Amino acid sequence: MEEGDLNVAFTGAGVSTASGIPDFRSEDGLWERYDPGNFRIGRFREDPESFWETMLEVRKEVFDADPEPNPAHDALTRLYEKGCLEAVVTQNVDGLHQQSGVPDDAVVELHGNTERLACVSCGRRADADEVLENAAEDLPPVCGDCGEPVKPDTVLFGERLPEGALYRARELARKADVVLVAGSSLTVEPAASIPRIADGPGTTVGVVNLDPTPTSVSPDYEINEDVTEVLPAIADEVTG
Ligand SMILES: [Zn+2]
Repeated sequence: MEEGDLNVAFTGAGVSTASGIPDFRSEDGLWERYDPGNFRIGRFREDPESFWETMLEVRKEVFDADPEPNPAHDALTRLYEKGCLEAVVTQNVDGLHQQSGVPDDAVVELHGNTERLACVSCGRRADADEVLENAAEDLPPVCGDCGEPVKPDTVLFGERLPEGALYRARELARKADVVLVAGSSLTVEPAASIPRIADGPGTTVGVVNLDPTPTSVSPDYEINEDVTEVLPAIADEVTG
């Protein structure tokens, strides 16, 4: 990883758990307590009011604690600020990379962002806190332009990943000199395929994740330790 190289970080849930964001798929994850069926796009379409009742409970549980970026986020921000990182491609929806200081246009959000709402009818995006505060008990929240119900601007079950983000992530992976995968077990498709795209000659793929990745990935380097310890050490090493 040197200045002038095109380096890309690819982050998953393991980068957010140290900030207190539960991993949806882990054993004591949210799916143990909430029916995943509540988070299907079909459920939103059929009954947006009860969809939002559950969604507000989850938001309260996850975000009332006001999660902050952790040393793993800050290490990637340092690498970005030193010009050693072109972009952060993330499966996380919490906006913590931006909160840590990576500019919006250098964060590729594969699964969207809970801080925004999206109108399924006209496509308008809006600030989630603002709209939900105004909606209060009056569910579902509606679009300021067309009055149709709005959904979180995140990828629900049954929805495709945003095409623009997916395209940009693939392009970055293809062109990258180094892809640094952090906190992802690389098991959720299609996002998981992105580091594999990078797995050609001339590209170095490094993985930092507590659990070993599946054998199908075969990175050049793999460190199965805590991202909040390893990423700062990498940033120290690279930025001197
Ligand atoms: Zn609208």
